[in-house]
Amino acid sequence: MKRRDFLFTTLIAGFPVAALSSEDEYAPRYVDVIVVGAGAGGLTAAYSAALKGASVLLLEKMPKLGGDTFLSGGYFNAVLTPEESSWFPDYPPDSIELYTSQINQLAEGLNSPKLARTLAENSRDSLEWLKKLGIRFLPTPYHVYGGKYPRSFLTETGNGRIYIQVLAEACLSKRVQVSTNSRVISLIKGNEDNRIVGVIAQGPEGPSTVFARKGIVLASGGFGANSSKLREMVPWAADLGTDSNPGATGDLHDAVYAVGGKLTNMHFVECVPGSSAHENNPVRLDYNPRKFIFVNENGKRFVNEELPRGKISEAYFNGGFKRCYSIVDNQTVQEIQLNRKKNVYKGLYKNMVWRGNSVEELARKLNIPEENLFQTIQECQFDKQILTPPFWAANVVFKIHLTLGGVEINEKAQVLDELGKPITGLWACGQVIGNLHGKYRLGGNGINCAVVFGRLAAKNLTQ
Ligand SMILES: Cc1cc2nc3c(=O)[nH]c(=O)nc-3n(C[C@H](O)[C@H](O)[C@H](O)COP(=O)(O)OP(=O)(O)OC[C@H]3O[C@@H](n4cnc5c(N)ncnc54)[C@H](O)[C@@H]3O)c2cc1C
Repeated sequence: MKRRDFLFTTLIAGFPVAALSSEDEYAPRYVDVIVVGAGAGGLTAAYSAALKGASVLLLEKMPKLGGDTFLSGGYFNAVLTPEESSWFPDYPPDSIELYTSQINQLAEGLNSPKLARTLAENSRDSLEWLKKLGIRFLPTPYHVYGGKYPRSFLTETGNGRIYIQVLAEACLSKRVQVSTNSRVISLIKGNEDNRIVGVIAQGPEGPSTVFARKGIVLASGGFGANSSKLREMVPWAADLGTDSNPGATGDLHDAVYAVGGKLTNMHFVECVPGSSAHENNPVRLDYNPRKFIFVNENGKRFVNEELPRGKISEAYFNGGFKRCYSIVDNQTVQEIQLNRKKNVYKGLYKNMVWRGNSVEELARKLNIPEENLFQTIQECQFDKQILTPPFWAANVVFKIHLTLGGVEINEKAQVLDELGKPITGLWACGQVIGNLHGKYRLGGNGINCAVVFGRLAAKNLTQ
């Protein structure tokens, strides 16, 4: 096996191949660019900077690469071409303006509209860039849960792992130095003009200091796995369980704050349905919000399923319900991407999914009043296309999916201080950003934020 192939296989499989230490060939004291975190954002920034000829050190605190990106569903939002738009006559033609306005509408005044526009403007180009790197997407985009438009492109594999595999391979091909088990604990300020010049990282052999000649990119994700921070910021949600990877502890939120950076929207999280609080492969039927309904233990709908994700979970929690199910018909199940459909069928044997040849049979299996469920479905069956038996239901438990707060950046991906001025030498991309989504996030705006702003950070800091 070639050395590069060995590194690639071991990094993805989760074996530590390189940890930061002074003797280590992967831990030079001076590099051009330091990238913190090896999800989609960090790998994109590292590869893009290396393409420009920079020497790059990528520091990842966990033993393996991937972060939330690895666990994700793999959808990537991008503005549709006119031809793609024409496939969806029920929707207006897509455009940068439409996409931007949808992000801003959900933000409720708590984001940077300029940042929203930057994301919309660069989303398509980043999708094409990923395709050129070798990631294959299904041709027809989806309208996803929490989305407002069918502009979510799904990887052929139906998950987010492929981003990590392809981007890690690209990084290694450009000799990016990758150091796992290397947790950045603080940022170092230079003597002149408050520039951030380096990081202190904790490796298995103790702390190391690394300096960056050109800049540092923060791509360290959210804090959904940090229970004490959740308890402080969002006490009502702290015990819900989380989808986040164990590395999502918000270390860099604290580090940025310590050097004068501004944190924003730290009190907002997004909850989405999983099967149970600790299920790794949640079984879901709630993909297209125009084709499913949520019902409570009384067989009644309690919310418009096309609302933002956060509003749906608020309606559930505020209603004080004891149970929730998503309900679809057989036609919709058959349209689910193959790997996900397999999970749905497996769910039948795990008491997570139920199927009934009639609505009444389904209601009996769910132990909810037959006449209520019958009436509920009768009222919306044409709108929601719940027409073809058998009818399916999945158990729904709302968990923390994402934290929405983080550092403020500008359109160049520079991290901002309390006065709104860029902190020299410091850049950020992906979920660590706090001023993009605002109060509610548009479904499918996750991986694209990592890739778009990762590319912009690398482009601007290597200029
Ligand atoms: C179950 C699930 C499904 C999702 N599905 C989708 C989807 O289909 N489409 C979509 O757009 N979004 C989706 N999202 C959201 C999306 O995954 C994230 O917004 C996006 O992947 C974030 O990328 P990132 O690079 O910013 O962070 P991550 O991918 O989370 O990477 C951050 C990395 O930084 C590392 N790190 C943290 N602190 C430190 C430190 N101190 N030192 C060194 N390293 C550190 C972490 O260990 C991690 O590896 C989903 C999220 C989840 C949890």
